[in-house]
Amino acid sequence: MKEKGKVFIVSAPSGSGKSTLVAELLKRLPDLVFSVSYTTREPRGKEKDGVEYFFVSDETFKKMIEEEQFVEYAKVFDQYYGTARRFVEQVLAEGKDLLLDIDTEGASQVKEKLPDAVSIFIMPPSFEALQTRLEKRRLDSDETILKRLRWASQVEIHRFSSYDYVIINEDLAASIDRLRCIICAERCRRERMTQRIESIIKNFGGV
Ligand code: 5GP
Repeated sequence: MKEKGKVFIVSAPSGSGKSTLVAELLKRLPDLVFSVSYTTREPRGKEKDGVEYFFVSDETFKKMIEEEQFVEYAKVFDQYYGTARRFVEQVLAEGKDLLLDIDTEGASQVKEKLPDAVSIFIMPPSFEALQTRLEKRRLDSDETILKRLRWASQVEIHRFSSYDYVIINEDLAASIDRLRCIICAERCRRERMTQRIESIIKNFGGV
C-alpha cells in the first residue's frame, strides 16, 4: 500500500507576497500538487477558471456547502473560498503531497479535521512593507487596501501562533528556500519513511 500524502497549508495576510512564493515553490517542487480552490469572487487580470480558482456563483457555492463538498470554506473579504474535499482525498490517497493556499480561518478548520497537516504562516516584515506591497500591486482601491491592512493588523498576524512554522518574508529568494526546506524536512520524517525503510531493512537480510 502507498504511504499517504501530506497536506501543507500556507497562509498570509493579503499582500505578503504569498502568491509569488507559492508559484515559485511549485516550480521547484513539481511533485507537490496545488489545490485549486472554489471561489465566488470575480477573476482578476489574467486569471483562468480551473487554474488559479474555479470561479462559481454564490448559488453554486452554497449548494456545494449543503452537499458537504468542502473540507473547509470561509468568507474572506465578502467572498466565499473553499477547498474541494474530493480532490484532497484523491491526491492524498495517491500518496502525493498537497499544498493549500488558504486563509487563517480555513487553516484552523483543516487542522481540526487533518491534525497531521503542516501549517506555515508567511509574515510580512513590517506594517510599512505590507502597505507598500498592497499599494504597488495596484489591484485594489484605497478603501480595500485600508480594509486589508486593518484585518491584517487586528486579526491575521496574531494568528501566527497556531501555525507550525513561520517565515518572515523579507527576501523572496530566502523565503522560497525556507519554504522548500520545511517541505523537504517534513518529507524526511521517520514516520513518513517507514515503508521504504522496511524494504531496505528486508534487503539487508539477517547477515
Ligand atoms: P485572493 O482573492 O487574493 O486570491 O485570496 C484572498 C484570500 O483567500 C487569501 O488569503 C487566500 O489564501 C484565501 N483563499 C484562497 N483559497 C481559499 C480556500 O479555498 N479557502 C480559504 N479558507 N481561503 C482561501
